[in-house]
Amino acid sequence: MGEPLTIEERLAYLEERITVLERMAKVSQIITSTLDLRQLLYIIAEVATELTKTEAASIMLLDKNSGDLYFETVTGPKKDEVKRVTVPLEGSIGGWIFTHNEPLIIRNPQDDPRHFQGTDKTTGFLTRSLMGAPLNFRGETIGVIEVINRSVDEAFGDQDLQTLTALAAQAAIAIQNARLLSELQRAYDDLAELDQVKSRFVAIASHELRTPLNVILGYATFLKEDLHGDASEQLEIVLQSALRLRSLIDDMMNLRHMDTGEARAHLEVEAFFVHQLIGDVVREFAATAEAKRLNLGVRRPVPRVEIRADRQKIFLVLANLLSNAIKFTDAGGRVQIASQVHGSEVWVSVRDTGIGIPADKLEKIFDRFYQVEGSLARQYEGIGLGLSIAKGMVELHGGRIWAESVEGLGSSFTFALPLPRDH
Ligand code: ADP
Repeated sequence: MGEPLTIEERLAYLEERITVLERMAKVSQIITSTLDLRQLLYIIAEVATELTKTEAASIMLLDKNSGDLYFETVTGPKKDEVKRVTVPLEGSIGGWIFTHNEPLIIRNPQDDPRHFQGTDKTTGFLTRSLMGAPLNFRGETIGVIEVINRSVDEAFGDQDLQTLTALAAQAAIAIQNARLLSELQRAYDDLAELDQVKSRFVAIASHELRTPLNVILGYATFLKEDLHGDASEQLEIVLQSALRLRSLIDDMMNLRHMDTGEARAHLEVEAFFVHQLIGDVVREFAATAEAKRLNLGVRRPVPRVEIRADRQKIFLVLANLLSNAIKFTDAGGRVQIASQVHGSEVWVSVRDTGIGIPADKLEKIFDRFYQVEGSLARQYEGIGLGLSIAKGMVELHGGRIWAESVEGLGSSFTFALPLPRDH
């Protein structure tokens, strides 16, 4: 035990600790405010040199390919020369710290068999004393921080080691953050590229498919007028299949137009009555509903509400909802359309007595390609685009769309559109 410290000595010691803590706080602040890893590690190395009163500091990281350590950051008079050196894990102090995952103080490296002479040889710099700590992140060692050559007489002590270990932790976080960020960026870039490829494919495919399909549709319609009996019925099947195919292609094109902004750019806004639009859609689906023995009707006389919107697009929204309601309701069931004014909006809803939707899927069904029943075991037709298109089109008009349902009992889909200000 040494002499007890005088008040002056204690004060001096505390003042020094405060300086160290202040510098540390500054480093944490810089870490959260800059994403430039090079700059960040350089600051950490400089602070390490300053706080441990040494000549130089370095941060080494593992090169996963070669299995050696390389100098990521170096400060001090020989920094450019040092950067060119690689340090082996075996037979170097840095390697020892890395593999043992322990900090280390070495008073005289030249006498230590672990000391790697390669660096001194290249730089002509003599390592007289050394202290190092591993960089850890979540149990994984990713590198080493070292400070060399004490510039004061007293040897490295516990406080110095504590300071260096704290800086090592900061450096490890900064490196890991930067790595995560660059991984994320790469994933985003890949995704964006993939998305472009997909968009281009959809554009080309839908265009190339549409043209021959229209020829088939044209001739089939033509021929059907001249045919009777079985042949006419068979041609009707061809016609229905071709129409279905065209509606799938239209879905893909609509989706693309929404993505590219064309749908917004080409909004053809006009004034029309909501009840007339409902009437038109119901007429279009009357035969299908009847064939399935569904009771399709308009509930309550709808108010004569006029809105300003792209009629074709709103028609498509309602048609998508109605076609789903018919598709997911068994024979004998009921499908009803209602509308009402609600504050500054008009609400149109389609209610069915069909299979319903589980509560935890009510949001998901508006996602692209989402279907409650997985596509492999599917008994219903469709590719899961209708609702996402409906949502996109309603939102283009500043509106909202949502679903309510009790599984097994039925569903209700509602979309709300803003009324004109002068309503
Ligand atoms: P698709 O009908 O082509 O599968 P949609 O986007 O129109 O695609 O619908 C997505 C999914 O939402 C459907 O596959 C279905 O699981 C569910 N769904 C939509 N409407 C109804 C409804 N009226 N009743 C029950 N489920 C529905």
